[in-house]
Amino acid sequence: MAFEGLSERLQSVMKKLRGKGKVTEADVKEAMREVRLALLEADVNFKVVKTFIDRVKERAVGQEVLQSLTPGQQVIKVVNEELQELMGGEQSKLAQANKPPTKIMMVGLQGAGKTTTSGKLVRYLQKQNRRTLLVAADVYRPAAIKQLEVLGADLNTPVFSLGDQANPVDIAEQGVAKASAEGFDYVIIDTAGRLHIDEQMMDELKQIREQIRPDEILLVVDAMTGQDAVNVADHFNKQLGLTGVVLTKLDGDTRGGAALSVKSVTNCPIKFVGMGEKTDALEPFHPDRMASRILG
Ligand code: GDP
Repeated sequence: MAFEGLSERLQSVMKKLRGKGKVTEADVKEAMREVRLALLEADVNFKVVKTFIDRVKERAVGQEVLQSLTPGQQVIKVVNEELQELMGGEQSKLAQANKPPTKIMMVGLQGAGKTTTSGKLVRYLQKQNRRTLLVAADVYRPAAIKQLEVLGADLNTPVFSLGDQANPVDIAEQGVAKASAEGFDYVIIDTAGRLHIDEQMMDELKQIREQIRPDEILLVVDAMTGQDAVNVADHFNKQLGLTGVVLTKLDGDTRGGAALSVKSVTNCPIKFVGMGEKTDALEPFHPDRMASRILG
């Protein structure tokens, strides 16, 4: 399960603190030394770890905390709040355009789960009685269009495509026009991913962005890739200006570093997490719940 190692280690540090009637500055420092190691081992970006530890220490060694009736609990509360803050603080919701359709552009590297996540978003929106149109703008990966059509059929949602010979910018534009003309609430554009970030891919994505002016540019990254996921997010954000990140494969045994680093490194919120291969395995990301889950 995700975060298992981190969770276990943090819980044991917190347990020690909780049991103490009196907590000294030295106790907090010792606890933070252990927390620091646990976070680094969970593959959290080292700068993020440093900032986090500094903030917790600054708040936790204050008079109010250490001289309170339950100092151990108070320190744990600070750790919990700062973990939540690290992951974005408040939940960041999916955009909704003033005038439909809301345009969502899905971007990401091949294999991250972009197409699957497009289907999951359809399912998520259908549950809110929203009508969705999927647009197949990945003309490079063999069978990408077919994969989306199969997903669309399963989900009973239409898929717009112009085949694999058309220009992705035209496909996106015509897909959005169709969604507007036919009164869809959301149009989700599945763009091409590559194995690595390359200039041609970025140029094409920028052209699509200029043409359709999306309300959301969601980057799909694989949580299992740890700091690589964070680097990819940073790069895409600098090039394209993301509105959010979807972290997939959190059902695997990822150490959790990406979930804890993405927001601080890129300033882009995680909006959803993927918890499995099926179309219902998508959850809105709640930093508070995730922090509590990690601390147990
Ligand atoms: P794309 O190339 O980015 O469009 O990737 P796909 O959507 O084709 O997904 C690649 C693989 O990852 C597929 O086998 C998906 O079933 C799998 N996948 C996607 N999201 C998740 C997830 O949240 N959890 C798990 N376990 N697998 C996922």
